Amino acid sequence: MNQTFKKLEEEYLQKGQALSMALVVLEWDQATEAPKEANENTSKMIGVLSDLYFHAYINDEVKDMMKEIKQEQDTLDEREASIFRELELLYEELETIPPKEYAEYAELTALSTNIWQKAKEEKDFSKFAHTLERLINYKKKFANYRKKEDGKTSYDILLGDFEPGFDEKKFDDFFAVIKKELVPFIQEINEKAKNVEKSFNFKSFDVEKQKEFCHFIAEYIGFDFNKGVIKESAHPFTTNLHNKDVRITNHFYENNLESAIFSVIHEAGHAIYEMQVADELTLTLAGTGTSMGVHESQSRLYENIIGRSEAFWKPIYPKLVESFKEQLKDVSLKQFVQAINKPECGLIRTEADELTYSLHILIRYEIEKLLFEEKIKVSDIPSVWKEKYENYLGVTPTDAAKGELQDIHWAGGDFGYFPSYALGSAIGAQIYYYMKEKMPFDAYLAEGNLKPIQEFLKENIHKFGKTKKTNQILFDMTGEEFNPMYYVKYLKEKYRMLYEG
Ligand code: ZN
Repeated sequence: MNQTFKKLEEEYLQKGQALSMALVVLEWDQATEAPKEANENTSKMIGVLSDLYFHAYINDEVKDMMKEIKQEQDTLDEREASIFRELELLYEELETIPPKEYAEYAELTALSTNIWQKAKEEKDFSKFAHTLERLINYKKKFANYRKKEDGKTSYDILLGDFEPGFDEKKFDDFFAVIKKELVPFIQEINEKAKNVEKSFNFKSFDVEKQKEFCHFIAEYIGFDFNKGVIKESAHPFTTNLHNKDVRITNHFYENNLESAIFSVIHEAGHAIYEMQVADELTLTLAGTGTSMGVHESQSRLYENIIGRSEAFWKPIYPKLVESFKEQLKDVSLKQFVQAINKPECGLIRTEADELTYSLHILIRYEIEKLLFEEKIKVSDIPSVWKEKYENYLGVTPTDAAKGELQDIHWAGGDFGYFPSYALGSAIGAQIYYYMKEKMPFDAYLAEGNLKPIQEFLKENIHKFGKTKKTNQILFDMTGEEFNPMYYVKYLKEKYRMLYEG
């Protein structure tokens, strides 16, 4: 135990952690329970707390202690070293930015979501364009401050924030594979799946019964209700306070059965990850999922690879039919599984199926790159968006709300975030093939025994929190770093089996 580190942790880092927890609770509350008019006042107090949070970490005393610790870095144990590394990353990200500019940027992002929301409602990109341009300029500037001699581009730096160790070169290689392998494959499968009957999914489903079933299925896959809760919000999300308090939300539509079911499996996948972080790491900077990509790999492994497989539904489909007798009485298990996987080239990312999803991400990635390389201007986004949707998915956006204004991410200043969604799907597939070698994966699903899968994920991924980065996790587990070919193999095998047999 390094004494300076001990002092740093007890007197400063824990304060930051406590403030972060308070912020998370307030934000959770705003999204789920708070009355409508609370927003403005509460937001102000969130602003005050955010500032305290920032200064709990970024201050001269902490900086001095870090210098001291750096001198004796080899005396840190593994846990301390990984927390220290996260603190250094926090400094690297925040300290280079002049506080005044950071405050201006924070103010801008507090307003920009509303501006985006209004522009989206009015389906008018020009109403958001100026704000977006300002956001991009700040992000470019901040990334420039952080540039080192290693030749990384601004966009590399942003990508690395969400996925440490990944940059444009790595994502270029990944998306090149997707483009080459999946674009033609999607056309082929769409043709074969186009007559799959799915109208049953849009009948009327009692919301209370949906809730009951979603509660059941969350528990069934391993969501621990002693360490987690499920509430409702406009869009499903996961938030975590620590490994014994992980919260997810869901959203119910009377006329769409699959929406809530797969949302809850997805969010529960995120939650299981957080619940299984080791006790010694929780409540520290290293005590959460290691990256966006690995987080998505877990949620999508549960949602798509497990949750949309026939083996998974085999033991529980009768229960679903029991809940919705009238609506599902003529739908066989096979028809159900074909329907919940049916690919469709659409305009909306969040409604996309597993197969076409990564093309929505590819489009956003290419546009972000063009913007940060200054090859296009913000005002070019609508036309570039349209062109790419036509080229890759064969569909034409009908308006800006169904086009370039559909996602909230850019309004929050999150550039470089989207690629981690697609990366997550691909990492999930790589893990899946490895697990299939190590255990009778499908047989476990078919007998309703998901515990060994959850245990495996805990031992190989979850318990490490941030102490291991993406490629380290993959390498230590499978003997290989990230390889996108598993994703292609998985999608081709799955979809051929579903619609060609
Ligand atoms: Zn997710």
